[in-house]
Amino acid sequence: MLDIKIINAKIIDGTGSPAYDGEVGIVEDKITKIGDLSNEDAKTVIDAKGNVVAPGFIDMHTHSDMSLVYDRNASSRIYSGVTTDVIGNCGIGVAPVKLENKQLLLDYLGTRIVGSMPVELELKWDTYKSYFEYMEQNPPAVNVAPLLAQGPIRIYEMGFSKEEPTEEQLQNMLAEVEECFKQGALGVTTGLVYLPGEYTTRKEILEICKIAAKYGCFYATHMRTESDEVEQALEETIDVAKEAGVHLHVSHLKAMGYKNFGKATNLIKQIRDVQDEGMEVSFDVYPYTAGMTSLSALMPPWTFEGGVGNMLERIKDEENRKQIIKDIEEGIPGWQNFAGCCKTWDDITIVSVTKEEDTWMEGKTITQVAEQKGTDPYTAIFETLINENGRVQITTNFMDDKEVEMILSQPDVMVGSDSMSLATEGLLAKTSTHPRAFGTQTKVLSEYVRDRKCFSLEAAVRKLTGLPAEVLKLDRRGTLKEGNFADVVIFNPDTVKDKATYANPKQYPEGIETVLVNGVIALENGKQVNVLPGRLLKNEYARKNQ
Ligand SMILES: [Zn+2]
Repeated sequence: MLDIKIINAKIIDGTGSPAYDGEVGIVEDKITKIGDLSNEDAKTVIDAKGNVVAPGFIDMHTHSDMSLVYDRNASSRIYSGVTTDVIGNCGIGVAPVKLENKQLLLDYLGTRIVGSMPVELELKWDTYKSYFEYMEQNPPAVNVAPLLAQGPIRIYEMGFSKEEPTEEQLQNMLAEVEECFKQGALGVTTGLVYLPGEYTTRKEILEICKIAAKYGCFYATHMRTESDEVEQALEETIDVAKEAGVHLHVSHLKAMGYKNFGKATNLIKQIRDVQDEGMEVSFDVYPYTAGMTSLSALMPPWTFEGGVGNMLERIKDEENRKQIIKDIEEGIPGWQNFAGCCKTWDDITIVSVTKEEDTWMEGKTITQVAEQKGTDPYTAIFETLINENGRVQITTNFMDDKEVEMILSQPDVMVGSDSMSLATEGLLAKTSTHPRAFGTQTKVLSEYVRDRKCFSLEAAVRKLTGLPAEVLKLDRRGTLKEGNFADVVIFNPDTVKDKATYANPKQYPEGIETVLVNGVIALENGKQVNVLPGRLLKNEYARKNQ
């Protein structure tokens, strides 16, 4: 007797193989049978009505580390057909926590991971082990695939110091990294454009990567720049990963800045060259031309020395302001100058703020904000940062649509929303966002498959499922196969569509009919069900040794 039988299914199994008609049988949390199940009884029958039945989507690049704690329903994911969120990206993560440096870690996360949600950031764990225990005791609606973020490791040992670590500090950091992999981290990430990632030496990255390689895990990086020197940044990234013998994963691959349009082709070539030599390299992308970051990310790195609080103090000073303006206008070698990547201040839009009196800024460009304030763009930025304690999110329109399409069309690219799980109701609705938080997966299926015809539906499903599962080395997930966990999405390939726009981002997509997470129905007839069946997905070492 089956628990669930899905009939009239057009099965796209996540391997890239052509779709075929069939039925899917589920017992408890596993797919037990695929094929003709007309003779099998089932407690629940789901009629797919000829729609696509695929593995649940894996969002390869999220920042849901705290949003899944604040609201475990993960509604923007469930409504998008996502059954697994990969967290800990870009070196930004919530563990381990050392008491003396806890405030520094909270400051670091405040701007990066909570955005402008009206919450008091609170970490209810200290060690990586207690963090995982917390997540297992408080599971969200989706599975969580945890990556170890390097930022908290450095803050743990060195705070926001820009010094090179002493041998003792290095060994302490490496011991923490090793412990995190023992607990089950699936990979390690850096955000070399953020602080303290920017202060991280090649040697630290190399030694951390060696540990990742030892556990059969990968190294994902938000490279030190994605603009002017992006080709050199990729070369350095490849170089260190190659020396460590680790699988390299480049996060949200792009060439940003209007001066760099065309460079994405070179990046793909660099990747193909080392792949031809036998190196394992993978990458992900989000299907939009604008990025999202915090307004504070426009500030040059020297302003952050000692932490975000120091930056907010420094930008009050007139002399410092002059230097910042000079740095933004002229650039600093090696620094990714977000503002300098945009043609004008019209390309930067305020997405969200935390203070009621500033909400009028949401949806307005820096130009418009400055006009309304009756000041110049720089003063508007400084004043807003100070008033909001740095907690302002922005979108920056700085990518070439043709290049985004080219990257997304690569057969081995995977897809990540680079967002946190959100909702249209409750706490997570109280912040605005980039449309990618609500539209990433369905935009790939509607715009890039159906409208632009860039690749087949089977290829799209593979980018969203089987490929990321392979790189993450997930246990029996990412493909529809007998014996695999029953993470399943049913969608209508003719109507599936993202609705989120820059002006109105908080809208669930259309055309996602049913979602199962570990054999539990989490979305039924397009409506979320009140269940929390997600699991923490650990690496092979932890699965075998715990
Ligand atoms: Zn990133």
